[in-house]
Amino acid sequence: MLAVTGIGELLTLAPDGDVLGVHHDATVVITDGKVAFAGPAREAPALPSDALRIDARGALCTPGLVEPHAHPIFAGSRAGEFDLRARGATYGEIQAAGGGILATVRATSAATDEELVASTLARLDRLLDHGVTVCEAKTGYSLDVDGELRLLRLLGEVKRRHAIDLSPTLLAHVPPPDCSSGEERRGFVERFRAEAILAAARAGAEAFDVYCDAGAFTLDETRALLGAARASGLALRVHAEQFTNTGAADLAAAMGARSVEHLEQIAPPAIAALARAGTVCNLLPGAALTLRLPWPDARRLVDAGCAVALGTDLNPGSSLTESLPLMMSLACMQMGLGCAEAWRAVTVQAARSVGRGDAGRLVAGARGDLVLWDAGDHREVAQHFGVNLARTVVVGGQVVRGG
Ligand SMILES: [Zn+2]
Repeated sequence: MLAVTGIGELLTLAPDGDVLGVHHDATVVITDGKVAFAGPAREAPALPSDALRIDARGALCTPGLVEPHAHPIFAGSRAGEFDLRARGATYGEIQAAGGGILATVRATSAATDEELVASTLARLDRLLDHGVTVCEAKTGYSLDVDGELRLLRLLGEVKRRHAIDLSPTLLAHVPPPDCSSGEERRGFVERFRAEAILAAARAGAEAFDVYCDAGAFTLDETRALLGAARASGLALRVHAEQFTNTGAADLAAAMGARSVEHLEQIAPPAIAALARAGTVCNLLPGAALTLRLPWPDARRLVDAGCAVALGTDLNPGSSLTESLPLMMSLACMQMGLGCAEAWRAVTVQAARSVGRGDAGRLVAGARGDLVLWDAGDHREVAQHFGVNLARTVVVGGQVVRGG
């Protein structure tokens, strides 16, 4: 048993409470990896003398954060590309200098399994340092069928070796560079449907994601791939409306996708369709910041009744960060979310997006994941940006960071 006492402010995210389920002077008790009690200290059960106790000394206590969108398995560095972009280089100039996704694909295929597992574990360590206890993780930096299945297998190994609960996703990122003719493209999509998606479902993937945009997969290709994934029992995700409006968000809503990603260029009819479908909108401020894209309009989505989550989009090109609290800061500063909405976006809403109904809340029966912060008020975590305020991280009742 683990008992956290002396909590100055507790966010339970209880469905029957106020929007965040706030309690002051609170206690959390975790037994057998699950929350047994979370609420006012005066209502807490008597603790046995052998219970492990943590005195929070007035700190903020929240559920473990849920990362709903990450590309954590890759090799190589694109720091040179970052510098070129910072100095105003165009996309074409970056490609000509050997940058872009294909640079990561080359480095990833050259890396050994051990190197990829080690670097992915290090990224998960940094996510955990910032309070993340559940993380969606996509393949996507091989492009061909065998290579993507290799990355999926390595994600399975990472999952077995790390405290974070990983939710693996097979990603159809972009067609490989040798698919230049229409016939080659059709052949590739057919192979991905018939081989990769079927094998992914057997290899532990929980979801399938496809990047639908100019330069990636077309709307028709996206529809065909999603149909195969749905038939294989995988949850559906779609990278939609990032650079151009393709209609992918409408398609995702119509096909019952669990989430849509990015949405910088989304149009109003699709917003209404996503709200009706209950598809979670995973907004990724790190990519908008890095690429100087317009900010996703979180305010408009929330006001239209959409479920909005925030992700880091951790990847080597357009969002190299493991800080979900920084995404909360950007959402509050640039995307129109209030602090309570930003907290919901990285807890209950993100948990829905990852299919973890027992995460993102501190209520009886939920998983015993929590974070103590160097803050006394939940609003400070978004306000105080660019530093890590996560002090203690607990996963399944075990203290895995701090103490
Ligand atoms: Zn992404």
